[in-house]
Amino acid sequence: MIVLKTKEEIELIRKAALLVGKTLAEVGRHIRPGITTRFLDQIGEQFIRDNGGIPLCKGFEGFPAALCISVNDVVVHGIPGDLFLKDGDNVSVDCVIELDGYVGDSAYTFPVGEISPEMQRLMKVTKECLYLGIEKAKPGNRIGDIGHAVQAHAEKNGYGVVRELCGHGVGFKMHESPNVPNYGVKGTGALIKEGLVIAIEPMITMGSKNVKISQSDGWTCRTKDGKPAAHYEHTIAVGANGPEILSSFDFIENKTDKQQ
Ligand code: MG
Ligand code: MG
Repeated sequence: MIVLKTKEEIELIRKAALLVGKTLAEVGRHIRPGITTRFLDQIGEQFIRDNGGIPLCKGFEGFPAALCISVNDVVVHGIPGDLFLKDGDNVSVDCVIELDGYVGDSAYTFPVGEISPEMQRLMKVTKECLYLGIEKAKPGNRIGDIGHAVQAHAEKNGYGVVRELCGHGVGFKMHESPNVPNYGVKGTGALIKEGLVIAIEPMITMGSKNVKISQSDGWTCRTKDGKPAAHYEHTIAVGANGPEILSSFDFIENKTDKQQ
């Protein structure tokens, strides 16, 4: 069942989502060759707790860390650990925070040092997929319109669209209805209404779309062909006239000094 949110509830979800944006920026400031993903997780968890939030990934179905940190061919759900980042890597940081009972979810793929033009293009197109999907999140459209927009742009650029994982409703809990796939057919799926709050999160691969989940940890999701992937995610609310992005990349990209 899809639970729509009131304007007041959306404002509270926005606060949680903005703390996610600030956390991603704080983690991003520490990303450089030679540090471990565990170190980044510690930075993120400390920042979340210092700001009154709860890192919801920690302990979720046994996930052992505050953040999902996914490097290169790891698409999503990477477990922070002893892996050292190196020049040319990409690193996706995915963060879900509960603040005062409301939940925000956002992810960003960062470059490590100097990255190749191919990696830059993958990251640029994946971010474009996110915003093209968000544009479709308006009253009267359907969930399939979002996935269709993401898929069309990724495939036009020669990239793969992961099928096994998708976006989702969010706000009261980490995962709510509906699922928001990154592929789809226009005009299909649940009707989008004012008050819908969802996380849209394209997971785009440089090679084939096929992924495998690690047998040893049950979490790490990698591309089968070993080629890199990128992942960007925003929490958005559907207003009467269209989508509103509740999370923010502005803290990461230094486009604002707004401190709410
Ligand atoms: Mg997420
Ligand atoms: Mg999510």
